[in-house]
Amino acid sequence: MKKQFAVMGLGGFGESVARELMRLGHEVLGVDIDENKANQLADHLTQTVIADATDDSALKEMDLHRFDATLVAIGENIEASILCTMHLKSLHAKEVWVKAITPTHHKIAEKLGADRIFHPEYEMGLRVAQTMAHPNMLDYIALGDNCFVIEVRPGEVLEDRPFSDLKIDPEKVRLLAIKHGNSVTFQPTPDYRLRRNDHLVLLGEEKALRHFTERL
Ligand code: ADP
Repeated sequence: MKKQFAVMGLGGFGESVARELMRLGHEVLGVDIDENKANQLADHLTQTVIADATDDSALKEMDLHRFDATLVAIGENIEASILCTMHLKSLHAKEVWVKAITPTHHKIAEKLGADRIFHPEYEMGLRVAQTMAHPNMLDYIALGDNCFVIEVRPGEVLEDRPFSDLKIDPEKVRLLAIKHGNSVTFQPTPDYRLRRNDHLVLLGEEKALRHFTERL
């Protein structure tokens, strides 16, 4: 179903979120104080508005309470991000998501009632470090409680061998799927033979996953 989103601040982060939401088939209102930023994206988003997102009367005119979610993606200017978040909450915007820069910014956004808070630079930093330290790990999702879902690229030694050869202990590590390009095989049977460029999608605790993937 088509949803409506608003993005306040069309810097690198705001722009990529807005463009991806459009690609996923949703409607996006983009707002930026900088005329050039708003104009650059005018043909790519449903609507762009040149406005100061800290100005509550400008925000009021946008009827943001009718949108499914509003993202505050104002970068360096923490004060503007906080003011905008505060106005969005008092205008009853449904879901207010905020990009935070510092721990203090995070705390204030939380106090103001932001529904989700992101730290893209910090989170991306962790992700890059993890993949640098474990080069055959392509992606991961932290589930909490030290559990992860990871996507790994096994070494060529496993090519054309049944995946039962991997001797996975299902108590510790679960094979959820095998990805091959864009196709996904859910929970392959033990006789599934691994092909070149197959990626394993595994669920488990960090230690067990590390132990297991070191053998791949
Ligand atoms: P990043 O690239 O990390 O997303 P930037 O600081 O480059 O962060 O981008 C933030 C965007 O927010 C810029 O395009 C800037 O013009 C916009 N912006 C800053 N203050 C306001 C404001 N008060 N109202 C609307 N947009 C704003």
